[in-house]
Amino acid sequence: MLAADPSAELIAGGTDFMVEVNLHGRRPESVISLRRVSELHEWTHRANRSRVTIGAALPYAQMEHGEIARLLPALAQAARTVGSPQIRAAGTIGGNLGTCSPAGDILPVLAALEATIHVVSATDARDLTWDDFMLGVKRNALAPGEIVHSVSLPVVDGWQGYAKVGTRNAMVISTVSACLVRDADEGLVTIALGAVGPTVIRCFDAERWLASATDLRHGAILSDDVAQEFGRRAAAESRPIDDHRSTAEYRRHAAGVLATRLLKRSFA
Ligand SMILES: Cc1cc2nc3c(=O)[nH]c(=O)nc-3n(C[C@H](O)[C@H](O)[C@H](O)COP(=O)(O)OP(=O)(O)OC[C@H]3O[C@@H](n4cnc5c(N)ncnc54)[C@H](O)[C@@H]3O)c2cc1C
Repeated sequence: MLAADPSAELIAGGTDFMVEVNLHGRRPESVISLRRVSELHEWTHRANRSRVTIGAALPYAQMEHGEIARLLPALAQAARTVGSPQIRAAGTIGGNLGTCSPAGDILPVLAALEATIHVVSATDARDLTWDDFMLGVKRNALAPGEIVHSVSLPVVDGWQGYAKVGTRNAMVISTVSACLVRDADEGLVTIALGAVGPTVIRCFDAERWLASATDLRHGAILSDDVAQEFGRRAAAESRPIDDHRSTAEYRRHAAGVLATRLLKRSFA
């Protein structure tokens, strides 16, 4: 259907789309609902390749608990912070990627875990890395006629977590968010920040510094100085702006706090 009408717009849960229609004057001429495309609602775990693939239209409610939450705890944590139960019953990863807001809660998880985004059209299929997909504020790499089919994420042996700061404790869009993954087998930590730049930011300098400053494998001990310095370095890599949700200064500070806090939790 999309190949026949590449200007048609896709709707999955509609939790971003209908806000655009109702409040921001979006007036699509034709809309294709993904609700009955059953492949997009599936998820699989290939144990031999230690990867989980999640269909673009699987609602968050199905990631919050159960097997997906056991395999990908940071994804489950992020999913639990999205909106309300009603929003999580409808909202999807495909929609978070389609909107590509810098504050999208799932996006830092995809970046910290180095997810692959599987994209299909009527005639082709391609796999994109998270940073090839997320191009800027509400901009992604989808070409006309393409849809997000699924994302695949590695199952990592080690701690992973997600945290966000907002103006209240629930039903809130992130002022700052962070996902940290500690691969205790490889001795590596990855961290991605949300809502502090035009798109998700991976703190590569802080990651490199941390790997050289301390042992990150199973059984290692983290000093407070290292945790604080890691937070400072992560904050320095953020590129926040002032807007109606926060000041840049507060965002930068909170990014550092979240980075330090998540790193400490990964050693607790
Ligand atoms: C009250 C409320 C609270 C919210 N709270 C949060 C929050 O805490 N955190 C957060 O991150 N978001 C939040 N959101 C935003 C929204 O719920 C999420 O971005 C959600 O992931 C969107 O998914 P959806 O399936 O509803 O997308 P839709 O609204 O259906 O689509 C969003 C965009 O993505 C496109 N799209 C959808 N599926 C695909 C696909 N498979 N391939 C390509 N393009 C696609 C659509 O064309 C559209 O442009 C909130 C929204 C509301 C209304």
